[in-house]
Amino acid sequence: MSQSQETLSNLLQETRRFAPPADLAESANVKADAYEEAAADRLGFWARQAERLSWSKPWDQVLDWSNPPFAKWFVGGELNVAHNCVDRHVEAGNGDKVAYHWEGEPGDTRTLTYADLRREVSKAANALLELGVRKGDRVAIYLPMIPELPISMLACARIGATHSVVFGGFSADALRTRIDDAQAKIVITSDGGYRRGKPSALKATVDEAVDGAPSIEHVLVVRRTGEEVAAHERDVWWHDVVERQSEEHTPEPVDAEHPLYILYTSGTTGKPKGILHTTGGYLTQTAYTHHAVFDLKPETDVYWCSADIGWVTGHSYIVYGPLANGATSVLYEGTPDTPHKGRWWEIIAKYGVSLFYTAPTAIRTFMKWGDDIPAAHDLSSLRVIGSVGEPINPEAYVWYREHIGAGGAPVVDTWWQTETGSIMISPLPGVTEGKPGAAMRPLPGIVADVVDDRGEPVPNGGGGFLVVKEPWPSMLRTIWGDDEGYVKTYWSRFEGLYFAGDGAKKDEDGDLWLLGRVDDVMLVSGHNISTTEVESALVSHPKVAEAAVVGATDPVTGQAIVSFVIPRGSAGGDVEGEEFLKELRDHVAKTLGPIAKPRQIMIVPELPKTRSGKIMRRLLRDVAENRSIGDVSTLADGTVMDLISEKLPSAK
Ligand code: ATP
Ligand code: MG
Repeated sequence: MSQSQETLSNLLQETRRFAPPADLAESANVKADAYEEAAADRLGFWARQAERLSWSKPWDQVLDWSNPPFAKWFVGGELNVAHNCVDRHVEAGNGDKVAYHWEGEPGDTRTLTYADLRREVSKAANALLELGVRKGDRVAIYLPMIPELPISMLACARIGATHSVVFGGFSADALRTRIDDAQAKIVITSDGGYRRGKPSALKATVDEAVDGAPSIEHVLVVRRTGEEVAAHERDVWWHDVVERQSEEHTPEPVDAEHPLYILYTSGTTGKPKGILHTTGGYLTQTAYTHHAVFDLKPETDVYWCSADIGWVTGHSYIVYGPLANGATSVLYEGTPDTPHKGRWWEIIAKYGVSLFYTAPTAIRTFMKWGDDIPAAHDLSSLRVIGSVGEPINPEAYVWYREHIGAGGAPVVDTWWQTETGSIMISPLPGVTEGKPGAAMRPLPGIVADVVDDRGEPVPNGGGGFLVVKEPWPSMLRTIWGDDEGYVKTYWSRFEGLYFAGDGAKKDEDGDLWLLGRVDDVMLVSGHNISTTEVESALVSHPKVAEAAVVGATDPVTGQAIVSFVIPRGSAGGDVEGEEFLKELRDHVAKTLGPIAKPRQIMIVPELPKTRSGKIMRRLLRDVAENRSIGDVSTLADGTVMDLISEKLPSAK
């Protein structure tokens, strides 16, 4: 596919630029000179960032790239992640500082200081040892968003065990596949967690998964909801085994390249892959990017990332980055609309959250629910607000800035992947003049570009494939147990370049705009059109809350654009009739050009999304092409496709 010349030249009409607030620019952690510093000596730059951490043995070499694409960072160095995230802050006199303000969905709370965290993590580490877990063993973790989740991860890191966190919404089959692939020795779970006002069970799913997973020796169960669970001989209760352990444990230094965790990608596109992250480089880049992109001032900021720890965003920006930096964070168990649709804003006001990180899917949901909900809460503490997971539509960016960021907080649109481990492309809040919808520039120390189908950089104004050109500290090291798959998936499309699988364009200033997955790009009458651009055009209509776009086979144009639209709650009037649909089609044509005009627009109540909140266009393509709907097992809500089919009998 050649996207280079034919990508739509104009990205919507939103041309405003947002300069950083003067005081933020003045006192920013990272200033413009960081780009030059890193460009002049990239490895020296990363070596300086690694000095944010405490190493028990210094490294001999920053990067060993003698056997590409298998990287080794900080060769010969030794450190312990739990020591860096917990103990050293206590040793520095910050034991009383809050690490997590935890908020349970029913309204119960727990406050964990760094000293509390050291005690809890030490006890959990001792318990794992008692249960026979040793350095290098794998531990599966299947927990809701309760403090025992980060505690378990850090306990693994403390003894050198490799964790594999599986999102608590996954099925028994999905859990079993991941346990098997990693040959995990124990699973840490709970009786359940709270979701949408009710206890939601987890243990039964683990029982089912583990019945077919012979590698598991024990199931360690946290009591959260108090609901009854079936007892098996392999089960042990957290409150029995962990609570009686010694509060003393000395973290075990491990090699910089020791496996810290495996995390399976969410499977938006295909079979989940076990992405392997290691120790020194991973912690260096998560700590640096959290410091740089959120401008974290650990003494005064309160930080909240609303992701689930089951995704990479939670690993890097709820657990490892913030704790390595000694931050105070909020950790929230539940859903945004329980008990009411203002819950998140209430939490921000309650804790005085100053740095906030969420996903476009959430932002669009809030737009749909209406402006008056956030307006009823005091959000004036917010000073930097971030986005991750999908391209953020310019309309959603501006709404986020206006209604959540009080019109002044910079929006940092952060592009990265499970595979990259940390943020790669993002504005710097004290430096960058933000453009709504653009991730802007690779961070200092990151070398990324947009190339055409021959791997040549496209000129400014051109579009193509996003690639990373030089290894980076938190890069995946391989796919667990599948070196060949690692090389094939990421390093074979273009010689010597990391292929991210996303389309992107460079605007006239050379700033980067993400255009969605390469697989989602549509070919209409010989023109490459990105789903992201058409979706953003639709969302820029005042009556549209969310939109998904797919290319459906068309006898005339090759592919035709089919759109699925959710109107805004406040839209009013007739949002079903022909006239409205025509208005939307004309709006897209006016915004992007006639070639991008959708052949068909369907008004739907919901869109199919993965459990991490990303639109599953594959299923919508089935609807658009009148096929029976494919595998829906990774959908967050399995009933959504029924709702859509009911609504669209004509689409069947
Ligand atoms: P799978 O690889 O299993 O299909 P996934 O790609 O959804 O799942 P993640 O690693 O969580 O799993 O997501 C990374 C992808 O999310 C990126 O490749 C990109 O497509 C998208 N993405 C993340 N952040 C942004 C962003 N700021 N702008 C645009 N796209 C983004
Ligand atoms: Mg992916």
